Amino acid sequence: MTAHRTPLSELERGTPFEQRHIGPDAEAQAKMLAQVGYGSLDELTAAAVPDVIKSAEALGLPEARTEAEVLAELRGLADRNTVLTPMIGLGYYGTFTPPVILRNVMENPAWYTAYTPYQPEISQGRLEALLNFQTMVAELTGLPTSGASLLDEGTAAAEAMALSRRIGKVRNGVFLVDSDVLPQTLAVIGTRAEPTGVEVVTADLSQGIPDSVAERGVFGVLLQYPGASGAIRDLRPVIEQAHALGAVVTVAADLLALTLLTSPGELGADIAVGTTQRFGVPMGFGGPHAGYMAVRDTFARSLPGRLVGVSVDADGDKAYRLALQTREQHIRREKATSNICTAQVLLAVMAGMYAVHHGPEGLRTIARRTHRYASLLAAGLTAGGVELVHGSYFDTLTARVPGRAAEVVAAAREGGVNLHLVDDSHVSLACDETTTRAALTTVWAAFGVEADIEALDATVADTLPAALLREDEYLHHPVFHQHRSETAMLRYLRRLADRDYALDRGMIPLGSCTMKLNATTEMEPVTWPEFGQIHPFAPVDQAAGYLTLIRELEERLAEVTGYDKVSLQPNAGSQGELAGLLAVRAYHRANGDEQRTVCLIPSSAHGTNAASAVMAGMKVVVVKTADDGEIDVDDLRAKIEKHRAELAVLMITYPSTHGVFEEHVADICATVHEAGGQVYVDGANLNALVGLAKPGKFGGDVSHLNLHKTFCIPHGGGGPGVGPVAVREHLAPYLPNHPLQPTAGPRTGVGPISAAPWGSAGILPISWSYVRLMGGAGLKRATQVAVLAANYIAKRLEPHYPVLYTGPAGLVAHECIVDLRPLSKATGVTVDDIAKRLIDYGFHAPTMSFPVAGTLMIEPTESENLQEIDRFCAAMIAIRQEVEKVASGEWPAEDNPLRNAPHTAASLGGEWEHPYTRQEAVFPAGVSTADKYWPPVRRIDGAFGDRNLVCSCPPLDEYGS
Ligand SMILES: *Cc1c(COP(=O)(O)O)cnc(C)c1O
Repeated sequence: MTAHRTPLSELERGTPFEQRHIGPDAEAQAKMLAQVGYGSLDELTAAAVPDVIKSAEALGLPEARTEAEVLAELRGLADRNTVLTPMIGLGYYGTFTPPVILRNVMENPAWYTAYTPYQPEISQGRLEALLNFQTMVAELTGLPTSGASLLDEGTAAAEAMALSRRIGKVRNGVFLVDSDVLPQTLAVIGTRAEPTGVEVVTADLSQGIPDSVAERGVFGVLLQYPGASGAIRDLRPVIEQAHALGAVVTVAADLLALTLLTSPGELGADIAVGTTQRFGVPMGFGGPHAGYMAVRDTFARSLPGRLVGVSVDADGDKAYRLALQTREQHIRREKATSNICTAQVLLAVMAGMYAVHHGPEGLRTIARRTHRYASLLAAGLTAGGVELVHGSYFDTLTARVPGRAAEVVAAAREGGVNLHLVDDSHVSLACDETTTRAALTTVWAAFGVEADIEALDATVADTLPAALLREDEYLHHPVFHQHRSETAMLRYLRRLADRDYALDRGMIPLGSCTMKLNATTEMEPVTWPEFGQIHPFAPVDQAAGYLTLIRELEERLAEVTGYDKVSLQPNAGSQGELAGLLAVRAYHRANGDEQRTVCLIPSSAHGTNAASAVMAGMKVVVVKTADDGEIDVDDLRAKIEKHRAELAVLMITYPSTHGVFEEHVADICATVHEAGGQVYVDGANLNALVGLAKPGKFGGDVSHLNLHKTFCIPHGGGGPGVGPVAVREHLAPYLPNHPLQPTAGPRTGVGPISAAPWGSAGILPISWSYVRLMGGAGLKRATQVAVLAANYIAKRLEPHYPVLYTGPAGLVAHECIVDLRPLSKATGVTVDDIAKRLIDYGFHAPTMSFPVAGTLMIEPTESENLQEIDRFCAAMIAIRQEVEKVASGEWPAEDNPLRNAPHTAASLGGEWEHPYTRQEAVFPAGVSTADKYWPPVRRIDGAFGDRNLVCSCPPLDEYGS
């Protein structure tokens, strides 16, 4: 008998993670390859990817590791982070994420794997959750219309600046910022102001607006409430003065403080901005958290970012959807109000649910406790002879300790508490929901003070200014009162999640969005306290694990893209675009080429491209698309010639937004370089390139990537995201940096693009894990299977729907566009009808009408298995046959399952008067009666909601109707 021997090293590898991430197994891949007409993945991609861009070498990345090994490695990194009591403040606070929200929202794929709610009929749960968020923000700020989240407080303030300039009465003049604004907010504003020619003036406005500034004209004023120092001031006089000058007034306000203090709206503000981090969202070394903006009614239609509104469905029932979608960059492009696309939906849902969970009384108690700790802390310090800079505060104190500040901060750190070193002689410190009596004792000791908390508590009064105590009611809607028990809360979260279609139900084949697997192993570390509870301005030696992870991820992304340097600071693709374009701008200026401001953008580009270019101070010149979907090279050459001296950059997407590998990309890049321009390659479609080609090597100078597409950060229902910017060496000096963390970027950088030094650091473990789990070979295979899956779908659907564009060898890249226009023209069945009918079949629609109106763009990704892909193809083919019945007249154009889709359970009741059966309506071919997804509403009338704009929870009398 021969003894069998498998070496331990082989057995230890187990099933490679790659096989969990990639949907089709070897057998399925063989079937798909046969359909597409190739013998192997390598043969297929050799034919699909043009030779001029192909990488010769394998990716230089560490070998793939198992899930257990990667979790162990992450545990090691986490252990190198030190969690101290966070009393640094400055917009980031300790908070308790209610466990019912932590587990059932943040750690629940039903919430985190959902897409942006562009298909509202299958997104009613998250739309309701966002409406709660908007209602909460609107009522706490006292301003009637709140958006559904912005990226962070700093960028929200910058958006407010842009909004003030756009809608204000004063056409020229300066943007005036109070000196007690958060330092990172001021810095982000500076980054945004410079390229758009806005002059920012900082002044102490506690005594009003200085005449010298007023004389120059002021289009906007930004105040912080309470101030960065902690001071609470009555802002009414300065707001009145600003209004008299015609300025738009923005107040950056702390929502927890607003549960006790007069709202910005009541003080007279036009706009309120801020963060909702301390409403149950972990600090995560800077993010992600939801920023907010609320405005007075007259500005509602100019709000940047997304806005959820109430409308009605085909049966006249209440339904939610995104309002005023016409404001989206895709339609407005360079005239868009802002470039924000991906925002912070998951975090907004959490913050809104925190308010649902606690209700107004609970929030007030948390706020009062926080304030009480601050008051006792202050009383102890004062009694011990420490001078406080101001006597009116909510949670933050600033102490004057001449020459002694560093010593105090160091002593507190010894005791496990982080304070903020303002300068040699000032220390500031903030209390929050998690502050303890022990922390107070440590802080007193650090200042060399002894105090008795019980004794103080017996005598010290609260110190909120009487003139600013809040008197109006807020959060009186039943949703903020009905879910106080955990049973009720759990069921509410479950009920909303059940209304939605996310990746945990089935495929979301959205072209350009790369809705691939977000593996549980990748997600796990995100909620570990060692990653979640690090303050973004903590001393870097407390974040050694984070810094290692960040450096490794930057290096590995540089290897994948072929660039020299990567910054992870931008917290969405749009922000990466802006950062990249600002680097280009700075580079030209450093070379004395200030006139180079023209940005060439193909007409098929993603809408954020043009919007970002405008924000970077550039002039957009559109390049035509040729009939084959590729860039019209003649037009490009003509435009380059025409703008030769002013050419700053060409911004292209590769593979193109049409999902095609363009063959002449290298020539195009060379032509631009020869004219003195730079090449920006929008890397949102990197899922077609990883391991096959590197934009930094085939001609790009700069790219952004979307880690929430290619690198597995879940879409969260519309955020969070991370949009790293990657550059070649010559642009590296102009990457983002940060005033509070010098190590976060080059000294010569363009300033911060996000409020936090490393942006949304808290979710970087996801992408780090993905790269570590897959290794170079696995990443390449993922790309190849993504390309295979897209081509398989193209081949299967081709007989039924024309595939609009193909590249070399008649192949597509990682997505394909099917053209419905001929069909629509012949039958009247629209893209919408088909998208909504897919819901009846249990699918999320592909991307609609982008980049070409009247088409669907399908991106299956590598993660969908063949069974699911086939189910999708079968649904598309069955729908095509339904269209045929409309064409033949068997079903009338106004009454057929396409026009009436989606069908709810309720629509089956009562008389059935349609020319098709109930069975055909809700259980068409291939739909399991047991596993059916039931949409909660019929087709939604978007226009009705836009005409009757309602963007907070509907009033009581309509509730539950
Ligand atoms: C998704 C996408 C963007 C924008 O990314 P966000 O993270 O949503 O800001 C830009 N360009 C292309 C081609 C995209 O697909």
